[in-house]
Amino acid sequence: MRDSYNRKINYLRVSITDRCNLRCTYCMPKEGVSLLGHNDILKYEEILRIIRVAVNMGICKIRITGGEPLVRRGVVDFVASLASLAGLRDISLTTNGTLLESFAAKLFAAGMKRINVSLDSLDQEKYAHITRGGDLSAVLAGIDAVHRTGFAPIKINTVAIKGFNDDEILTFAKLSLHKPYQIRFIELMTMGHTAVNHNDQYLSNTLIKEIIERHYRLTPVNGKRGSTDGPAEIYRIAGGAGEIGFISPLSHKFCQACNRLRLMADGHLRACLLTDEEVDLKKPLRAGCSDADLTELITAAIVKKPLRHDISCDVGHRKKCMTDMSSIGG
Ligand code: SAM
Ligand code: SF4
Repeated sequence: MRDSYNRKINYLRVSITDRCNLRCTYCMPKEGVSLLGHNDILKYEEILRIIRVAVNMGICKIRITGGEPLVRRGVVDFVASLASLAGLRDISLTTNGTLLESFAAKLFAAGMKRINVSLDSLDQEKYAHITRGGDLSAVLAGIDAVHRTGFAPIKINTVAIKGFNDDEILTFAKLSLHKPYQIRFIELMTMGHTAVNHNDQYLSNTLIKEIIERHYRLTPVNGKRGSTDGPAEIYRIAGGAGEIGFISPLSHKFCQACNRLRLMADGHLRACLLTDEEVDLKKPLRAGCSDADLTELITAAIVKKPLRHDISCDVGHRKKCMTDMSSIGG
């Protein structure tokens, strides 16, 4: 499956809910987003049908996300159904980690082996502040649990926020010395509520890398300069158990290598994270469309995939994508 710019599309991120048990200040308003009703979100059977069609078209990698995916009932059975689909090579999940301790063994048994946990501060007070009430110890217990259970790789996603966690960059980097985790610094994207709450808190990964390199030598993994793991540039501190990744959607746009589609909980398919163009799959699905119709709709979304997104790190010239990340799934 190739788009209009000859990019191979083989990765689908699936948001199974727009609900979340946290309210990260850069992702959601305090009162939460306008929540979709039970009937407005795709049922698991509907998601599975779309995924089956997408796999026939060449999708081989799925990431489950949200909102917080672990708050939706039935997620473990859903993972098990995905794991039994022929043609899928890779199933993973992005979570805030707060419920992970009790889910780790069940998810592993259902067939999930890789996981990304979002964590923006290692200080309880700061963590509670950025998540508006989250409990850091629950997340740390969740990360320990996936480690003990045997998940690999375990990736920790840290959104870099000026004036909030720029003083913790080395603390996060040092985690990769002792633990076999990949610590990934992600640039803050100005979209949805971030645009309002955090407009001037963007921190470039170039600066973050420089800060780490003042203390440690970073060696590109696999001997390449920033070997690619999707859009991440991956490095290692000599002797470190884990790795350090940089995901830089603004300072180093990686659109030319983008292989993704995103299915939102409300059934809209989005070809670009940062462009508000979507194709509705739910309505045709519920009107009884055929698999061939679904294939056509998915193709229509792929055709709309832009060459590159419009968001820039140049504060004065930001165009905004007004959809919150919690609705798209990251
Ligand atoms: N609730 C889960 C979590 O937090 O991992 C999954 C959904 S969340 C929307 C997925 C990822 O998007 C998280 O790592 C979060 O930090 C990131 N994210 C949300 N808003 C963002 C923004 N404006 N810029 C960069 N990353 C953002
Ligand atoms: Fe929830 Fe994840 Fe958004 Fe935080 S980043 S509010 S945990 S969806």
